[in-house]
Amino acid sequence: MAVKTVYDLIIIGSGPGGYVAAVKAAQLGLKTACVEKSPRPGGVCLNVGCIPSKALLDSSEYYHLAKTHLGDHGIKTGKVSLDLKTVMARKDKVVADLTNNVKKLLEGNGVTLIKGKASLKDKGQVQVTARGKKATILEGRNILLATGSQPVEIPDLPFDGEHIIDSTDALSLPSVPKHLGIVGGGYKGNELGCVLRP
Ligand SMILES: Cc1cc2nc3c(=O)[nH]c(=O)nc-3n(C[C@H](O)[C@H](O)[C@H](O)COP(=O)(O)OP(=O)(O)OC[C@H]3O[C@@H](n4cnc5c(N)ncnc54)[C@H](O)[C@@H]3O)c2cc1C
Repeated sequence: MAVKTVYDLIIIGSGPGGYVAAVKAAQLGLKTACVEKSPRPGGVCLNVGCIPSKALLDSSEYYHLAKTHLGDHGIKTGKVSLDLKTVMARKDKVVADLTNNVKKLLEGNGVTLIKGKASLKDKGQVQVTARGKKATILEGRNILLATGSQPVEIPDLPFDGEHIIDSTDALSLPSVPKHLGIVGGGYKGNELGCVLRP
């Protein structure tokens, strides 16, 4: 396997940690590469976290207002109903627009965005594997791990994508569940609970 390019900095992960560091490093004059295994940059935050959850919260707030409060203001709407498909399509568009902006931001600042799964090899070497492509080796004087986190299963409640779901699944449900129990009362549980409250 041939050694290809030498970077001052290779960043693994293009979430808020990775892409902000990449842009700053490039602006400071470092030859910077950012490796991302997901199809779109932006990490959890832009793809399956902050941004889609806020887009859904926005929609659910309008729905709630239309259903319960507009009448108080003398605004008559008739029967209000929810078209979840449109809600999800809007959320997907918000995500697509913003992740595209992150891609442009990286490229506009001269960061090389590399698609593929990175793993550490010898000192200063990062191997990148992408489906259908030969693995490549990048050389870096510095390597920054910005690989983020992912939902953790509770041992006796493995995710099945249907009855036991994680926050990522909850952002793309095909219908609003009639009953929903949320394990975890942090901001994710609270936010998604507000969105999905029937
Ligand atoms: C539903 C939800 C709502 C949230 N709302 C908020 C909010 O309102 N405000 C807030 O501040 N935070 C929020 N968060 C948290 C926020 O999303 C995270 O704190 C943030 O995404 C962490 O950024 P990061 O760059 O560290 O990691 P991540 O965003 O997880 O990015 C890591 C990236 O590394 C990539 N990666 C991992 N391993 C490899 C590898 N081997 N090779 C290549 N790429 C790799 C991943 O694909 C990913 O794109 C929310 C999270 C969720 C789930």
